[in-house]
Amino acid sequence: MCIRDRDIAKLFNEKFGTPLDATPEQLTQKARELLREKYLKADIGISGGNFLIADTGSIALTENEGNARLCTTFPKIHIAIVGIEKIIPSMTDLDLFWPLLASHGTGQNLTVYNTILSGPRQTGETDGPEEMYVILLDNGRTNLLAQKEQRQGLYCIRCGACLNACPVYKNIGGHTYNTTYSGPIGSIITPHLKGMKDFKHLSYASSLCGKCSEVCPVKIDIHKMLLLNRRDAAAQHDNTKSEDMGWKVWKAGMQKRSRMDMIGGKLKNFFLKFLFKKVWGKYRSMPEIAPKSFSKQWEERNKEQK
Ligand code: SF4
Repeated sequence: MCIRDRDIAKLFNEKFGTPLDATPEQLTQKARELLREKYLKADIGISGGNFLIADTGSIALTENEGNARLCTTFPKIHIAIVGIEKIIPSMTDLDLFWPLLASHGTGQNLTVYNTILSGPRQTGETDGPEEMYVILLDNGRTNLLAQKEQRQGLYCIRCGACLNACPVYKNIGGHTYNTTYSGPIGSIITPHLKGMKDFKHLSYASSLCGKCSEVCPVKIDIHKMLLLNRRDAAAQHDNTKSEDMGWKVWKAGMQKRSRMDMIGGKLKNFFLKFLFKKVWGKYRSMPEIAPKSFSKQWEERNKEQK
């Protein structure tokens, strides 16, 4: 049993009294017992939708667990809340999009359960809800559509490949972004969905290595979008005074080596701690700047050798 399985077994033991050494199969069986009952009794099931199919008016769902099928078929009413950017022209486009999503999301040729829902249960049918509603969600998406250069963020099929490739996301994890969509794609669309002023900092949470753009199956130029967001934030004067001041000092320092070396490592470490003491978190240690910069050491070494 791996560590994660043991953790889950411990949690199930605490909450539901299953044995501490329960196997994954036994835990799955227990979860099924507990959840089936809830699905059977629920009046309303709420789902999202991976795609909206324009020519048939259907929603397409793709999943590995089968929980979306339970929630869309057992309760009396099914409500699907789907972002407007999920519309694809025709049923035949799924031929491309389903395998694209599966292979870039989880490395499968095709996800296990794929469902197309075109309405509630019809006369003579045994399964399905009595009523079905599709809510088209804008929630800032038309703001993004209005941005000619950045609207390609709406191409996203939510495969998550850019998250798995991103060195920043891999280290800090999804919760740190504090947004619905995390990782590189979250960083480029959230400032437009929720406001540049409060979310522009996400566009700076990147080393601009370009790995995200490289792996994106729909070819969103993600790292360029990050730069465009930074440009827009600066142009809209959404930076606070202290940020502007910080960038000015940084720019002045970076333009001349001698300026960078004017203050030693000790002082640099002090400023680093002072500036980031609130945001760094108490469980992470600050990076330590060497007492002497590389160029200083190089200079001294060359002098010694002469
Ligand atoms: S931006 Fe591209 S790689 Fe990232 S989740 Fe969307 S489709 Fe996948």
